[in-house]
Amino acid sequence: MSTRRSIIGGNWKMFKTPSEAATTAKALKVKLINVEAVDVVVCPPAIDVLPLVEILKETNVAIGGQNMHWEDEGAFTGEVSATMLRDAGCSYVILGHSERRHVFGEQDSDINKKVKKALSAGLTPIFCVGEKLDEREHGRTREVVKKQVAAGLAGVQLSDPADLVVAYEPVWAIGTGVNATPEQAEEVHQYIRELLGEQFSKGLADGIRIQYGGSVKPANAAELLSQENIDGALVGGASLDPESFTAIIKSAEKVN
Ligand code: PEP
Repeated sequence: MSTRRSIIGGNWKMFKTPSEAATTAKALKVKLINVEAVDVVVCPPAIDVLPLVEILKETNVAIGGQNMHWEDEGAFTGEVSATMLRDAGCSYVILGHSERRHVFGEQDSDINKKVKKALSAGLTPIFCVGEKLDEREHGRTREVVKKQVAAGLAGVQLSDPADLVVAYEPVWAIGTGVNATPEQAEEVHQYIRELLGEQFSKGLADGIRIQYGGSVKPANAAELLSQENIDGALVGGASLDPESFTAIIKSAEKVN
């Protein structure tokens, strides 16, 4: 537990057509009506952003993109810009998700340009880091996370800790059903906060929310979220179902 306000994000990945997304958003709107103590953000596929912004306006649910390009505009077929996400009503954007890094080959230097562009466009980056299974097994977790944090946030200026969210997502825990134990996650979160203190200042680092992501579900959320340095969750699979996503948000409210 800490003074940081919990933030629960739903990463819908490449799931839900606009009409499916609308049905889910309408259900969430009803279920989350009394949730005030936790920040909630839903990150749907880009094509679902506009209908979700409309359905979830006047609620406490914010909308985020799942990725963006670092340029303002141009001949970049298939991409969306930070300004486009902002203009459509997004306030967050997931950057450096492991699927972007390991399926689409995004480099730390690409992610760094995106983080800077998101901040200058008024979007809050949800900046993801995390080690692969073999890296953990070889005792390289800290080394990998340190490099990702240093390179992804190089030259980033921050004046308000609320402007950045970091998500620790061990790759071996994403979509596998095997979550990091609360102790494993807390150890890395504590280390990330130390790194953020070196990068920015201790004061800023103390205020930056660090989410855990990787097979979070209603059954394990409370234990993970009650760790001192775990300030929320980035949820993939379990965010697709309004029932389980709401249950996770309610767990966050309880441990707040
Ligand atoms: C994710 O995609 O960010 C994620 C954590 O997925 P899951 O919850 O399904 O492991």
